Amino acid sequence: MAATLSTLAYLVAAVLFILALRGLSHPETSRRGNLFGMVGMAIAILATLLRPGMATGGIGLIVLALAIGGGIGAYIATRIQMTALPQLVAAFHSLVGMAAVFVAAAAFYAPESFGIGHAGDIHGGSLVEMSLGLAIGAITFSGSVIAFAKLQALMSGAPITFKGQHWLNLGLGILLLVLVVAFVASGSAALFWAIAILSFALGFLLIIPIGGADMPVVVSMLNSYSGWAAAGIGFTLGNLLLIVTGALVGASGAILSYIMCKGMNRSIINVLLGGFGTDTSAAGAVAGAGGDRGPVKAGSPEDAAYIMKNAAKIIVVPGYGMAVAQAQQVLREMGDLLKKEGAQVEYAIHPVAGRMPGHMNVLLAEANVPYDDVKELEEINPEFAEADVAYVIGANDVTNPAAKTDKASPIYGMPILDVERAKTVFFVKRGMSSGYAGVDNELFFRPNTMMLFGDAKKVTQEIVQALQK
Ligand code: NDP
Repeated sequence: MAATLSTLAYLVAAVLFILALRGLSHPETSRRGNLFGMVGMAIAILATLLRPGMATGGIGLIVLALAIGGGIGAYIATRIQMTALPQLVAAFHSLVGMAAVFVAAAAFYAPESFGIGHAGDIHGGSLVEMSLGLAIGAITFSGSVIAFAKLQALMSGAPITFKGQHWLNLGLGILLLVLVVAFVASGSAALFWAIAILSFALGFLLIIPIGGADMPVVVSMLNSYSGWAAAGIGFTLGNLLLIVTGALVGASGAILSYIMCKGMNRSIINVLLGGFGTDTSAAGAVAGAGGDRGPVKAGSPEDAAYIMKNAAKIIVVPGYGMAVAQAQQVLREMGDLLKKEGAQVEYAIHPVAGRMPGHMNVLLAEANVPYDDVKELEEINPEFAEADVAYVIGANDVTNPAAKTDKASPIYGMPILDVERAKTVFFVKRGMSSGYAGVDNELFFRPNTMMLFGDAKKVTQEIVQALQK
């Protein structure tokens, strides 16, 4: 009876996790999605605690671990800056990877507790599951640590490449497969640890050639790996919910990586083989910024307010700088004032604006920008030609026409927002520096561009003040 109830509870939790993912796919339903996820997790934990055969001591330990882990997680979550979320996620994934390694080790040394055989005589199928969980977990751990270090600027974000790197990785990958087969055949402890060490090394080697600009894609991919590692452990533990949840995380992480790659018009293979950002033509372009292109036209917030007061259609293009400056609230105030002046105000979202998918949507939603005013790239691009003003706030790469014209540019092929078609383009940024991809933006030098130099929040606040006069 208890076993049936526990299975039923797991089923309910699994359905709630699926509903959570569905809810999270749109800003309007994302809060509900989160709630589904939380309720699902609470049910899953409760059902695990009440599972038949759970020793009282075990319950105590689980509750203690939950209190410690949950406390640390809650503390970090309330303090973390939105812009630092990618590295936080990377750090958390490293823990999932390490957990998979520990569970594999526990199952290997105490197989009786897992019902998978006896020491030295573990079922073949369990050895396969264990070695997969171990290998994927260890790769996820060291890969995530490197991703965290790069995103947190603890190490250089530049790709670390050397001759024969891909062949070395391929060779080590094949060696890993051989070790897994040998381990399954022999059940040897030495081979178990050899798989662990090789996988840690492989995770490290696979991520170091990937540049900082591609790290968010890597984080999402590691998220996918951590899901598969969890599913692998689910098989070892004979836990259906862990298998379902792991597969959900694995699949959604893979889909997210695909969406990000599509947004940058890169293939996942191109991202994984790394080296993005080492392109010398790009470095040259940055060095040449402002050099031979003539002066840029800089304006004041008052100039911008005057022009926008007389505009009929304004398209706001938010980017990473808006997130850094936390300018979303004052941006909405500006939008409201302009609407009162009779202008149509819309917000154009590029799929990879900011540093993670949905970054801009979340910030605009936080500032209560109406969902109907927020438009995706394909929908808004034809509208720039009719716009009087494009107000580009802290965005750069996502507007860069080099993506369309310069085959040598590392962002070549990425779809961009056609802001230059607007009558006047304002770029709100602190200076002339390039965006994340390190590429110069020639739009700054166009005759219909006016640079509004300064912090995004401060500049927009000054525009709001000027509009209120
Ligand atoms: P960018 O990184 O291209 O540009 C951001 C600009 O913001 C910078 O040029 C910077 O210029 C400016 N800025 C920084 N701080 C402030 C501030 N306080 N006030 C005003 N401006 C500021 O951002 P985009 O959003 O245009 O593009 C995102 C980039 O990230 C793309 O290259 C994309 O490929 C990459 N990426 C995004 C992913 C995602 O999922 N969203 C995933 C993978 C990669 P200055 O220093 O002069 O102020």
